[in-house]
Amino acid sequence: MTWLVIVGCVVLIATSGWLIARAHTQEVAQSQLSNTNLARAVTEQIEGSISEIAHIVDGLVFELERANTDRLPLQNLQPVLVNHVAGVEALKGLFIYDAKGEWVVHSEAVSNASLNNSDREYFQFHKGNLSERVRIGAPLVSRSSGEWVIPISRRINDTDGNFNGVALATLNIGFLRSVLEKYDVGQGGAITLAMRDRLLVRRPFKVDEIGMTIPASALQKAFESSKSGVIDGPSSIDKVDRIISFDHMRNYPIRVAVALAKDEVLKEWRTASFVQAGLTLVLCLLLASSGAYVIRAMRLRLDAEAGLRETRDALSIANERLSHLAQYDGLTGLPNRRYFDSRFARVFEKAQREQRLLSVVLVDVDQFKNYNDRYGHVQGDECLRQIAQAVLSSIERTGDFVARYGGEELVMLLPDTDSAGAALIAEDARAAVVSRHIPHEETTLGIVSISLGVATAVPGASCERYALVNAADEALYVAKSRGRNQVYSKEAG
Ligand code: GH3
Ligand code: MG
Ligand code: MG
Repeated sequence: MTWLVIVGCVVLIATSGWLIARAHTQEVAQSQLSNTNLARAVTEQIEGSISEIAHIVDGLVFELERANTDRLPLQNLQPVLVNHVAGVEALKGLFIYDAKGEWVVHSEAVSNASLNNSDREYFQFHKGNLSERVRIGAPLVSRSSGEWVIPISRRINDTDGNFNGVALATLNIGFLRSVLEKYDVGQGGAITLAMRDRLLVRRPFKVDEIGMTIPASALQKAFESSKSGVIDGPSSIDKVDRIISFDHMRNYPIRVAVALAKDEVLKEWRTASFVQAGLTLVLCLLLASSGAYVIRAMRLRLDAEAGLRETRDALSIANERLSHLAQYDGLTGLPNRRYFDSRFARVFEKAQREQRLLSVVLVDVDQFKNYNDRYGHVQGDECLRQIAQAVLSSIERTGDFVARYGGEELVMLLPDTDSAGAALIAEDARAAVVSRHIPHEETTLGIVSISLGVATAVPGASCERYALVNAADEALYVAKSRGRNQVYSKEAG
């Protein structure tokens, strides 16, 4: 039973542990899935905006190269640029620089007379690189607005294919920030936009982080090794433990990482687990206490049953002893007079009913008064015991019965025994006593002897059972009067 309670508790705890672990895995998997979807959505939205801007740049360069910038009345282009900027939310400004980096035409409202952008990284790149593809550069602070922007630029060629300037569009970092802030990533969540090892913009937003090199981290390694995926671990920037999904733009080297704080993701799971663990504990305690109660009750019951059994056994032993005492004679060990009476009644009725022979033999010790006088009562008792054993040894059949009739008289009940048979048994008893050679100097024989009176009858319907005993007594009297130490038989009516 104790083992049953222990096993029950272990199973309960193991099941609960397994459920908690399973809920954890499911919670994490669920967050990873929604995170991955979010990363894809952010990536596609921003890539859409960049593509739109890249198309505008491509279109401008196409027009400029076709018309050749030197001959085009460029100032007429300004309203077109302003129009583009007004129409595209992500677009901060559009600029055309000549081969020396001078501002030729732009969408800004500032004077351009003294500005030269030939020192900019993107300008130097296009000057030295023949590629005609749109390029995204590292974030920089705009010279016209003083705000952080991301340059999206393209080389302009003259009709001979020589470097003839740069077309530049600036992507508003404020716009990217507003996009990132649209999505719900909780209090501790983060969304990072990065280009190669450079951070473009991050939510939560910090101006200092724009353009910084991303510290070596699991995320940085993941960015290098694969285009999209899921990782988890602490952020290299703010050390918060997060579940991170990252994705990449199809046409630009820009990655987006959406990270949810593990603390927040697992908050509900933690509460549920706490409740479940508590309930499990309560159940275990209930099981243990009810188990202990049942065990105690069982023990008490077993103890009570054992006590009851002991008492019953003791009682039945006492009863046996009592019934033995009630039916047997303490001196000789033979059945007593009471036992003889009940037995005699049964045997007599049976013989009467079935009309069968029944013999009764009365035994009396010869000169026993003298024996007592000569050897004392204690010796007399011992002598009686020996006579009882000797008489008992003379009967063999199971139905035969010897009892102490009273004083130094014994009685034998011999069912289905005729007079001759009974006389033989009586003679055997007499011989058995004599053969013991118990000294009795007060007799002519010199040893203890017995006289036996035998009465036999098939009891008639009106026959009283004590008539048979009386007949045996009369026969005994004859045996005594004839000199003792002998058997006398008498047929009873
Ligand atoms: P008889 O040959 O005529 O029978 O002579 P008897 O002396 O035996 O005479 P009786 O049968 O009348 O004597 C009975 C004596 O048996 C009397 C008593 O002293 C003795 N006696 C009876 N019961 C006991 C007993 O339980 N223990 C002892 N020691 N003696 C007993
Ligand atoms: Mg007597
Ligand atoms: Mg006698």
